[in-house]
Amino acid sequence: MYELRWNPVLKWWVMVSTERQNRPLTPENYCPFCPGSNKVPGKYEVLPYDNDWPILSPEPPEVNPTRSSIFKNAKSYGKCEVILYSPDHKSSLGELPMESIEKLINLWVDKYIELGNKDFIDYVFIFENRGKEVGVTITHPHGQIYGFPFIPRKIELELSSCREYYETSQKNLYLEILREELKQGKRIVDENDSFVTFVPYFADYPYQVFIIPREKRLSIDELSSEEKTQLGKSLKRIVSTYDNLFDRDFPYMMCFHQKPTDGKDYSYYQFHIEFYPPLRNEKTQKFNASSETGSWTHGNPTSPEEKAKELRKIMEKLYGKR
Ligand SMILES: [Zn+2]
Ligand SMILES: [Zn+2]
Repeated sequence: MYELRWNPVLKWWVMVSTERQNRPLTPENYCPFCPGSNKVPGKYEVLPYDNDWPILSPEPPEVNPTRSSIFKNAKSYGKCEVILYSPDHKSSLGELPMESIEKLINLWVDKYIELGNKDFIDYVFIFENRGKEVGVTITHPHGQIYGFPFIPRKIELELSSCREYYETSQKNLYLEILREELKQGKRIVDENDSFVTFVPYFADYPYQVFIIPREKRLSIDELSSEEKTQLGKSLKRIVSTYDNLFDRDFPYMMCFHQKPTDGKDYSYYQFHIEFYPPLRNEKTQKFNASSETGSWTHGNPTSPEEKAKELRKIMEKLYGKR
């Protein structure tokens, strides 16, 4: 069964798909994303790959009407794709050469446009889950894209705050946050001509960072080629810094937030990338427990200023002073 179910209380859709339960376990030492697996070409640099177990589809099955005044369902329209970053099983965003990262960014741009142009997709969500701590079974460097037939609730909340802020001040909320972070300076981790990386003042994860363009850009397809290079550098530098923090592949959730693709006006918004690493320190993990799940209230057991300093120190060791 594949369907979307509406939660009328929280006003969001839940993607239900029972077939994913039957996903076979990947045998040990077999990687479907390595050249030679018969699942991918023998040679590639970056590669889009249709998810073998998509939760959303351009041709979703029919759904049974609910015959209820309160419960509502809908067909699972959309698209789920995997983006392979490299043919090298052991590589990562932090280790890839800049040329490959630029190719990857161009692929993200192409996919944002291609999926966004489909009339059944209103939001293109680019993301990466990395590490077993966030449920990843295949360690080959890859990210994913979900083309949603709706605007996800969290994005809707961000959009409405940005619109409200713009209507009362004629200013862009994300650019004002960036301005204040730059003014205070103590949570800035990295910056270049086009992008700034920082641990946000209100971080809910210890090593959480935001990457925000200095200029107003609503989505990645608005970046110039120079800006794409700068974005690639920012990504490479933060991921390699993460990996050097505890000398291990650092787990994270990387989420791209950009304007929806339903054709409406979102000129008050700002493209940005959010990293949520689940580790609190070398050995312990931050779990989303009752407070986080049941009340959406996070406890951050660390000081964002201290964590930014820690990340800055490692980055300086790797790349020299800013
Ligand atoms: Zn592999
Ligand atoms: Zn966001």
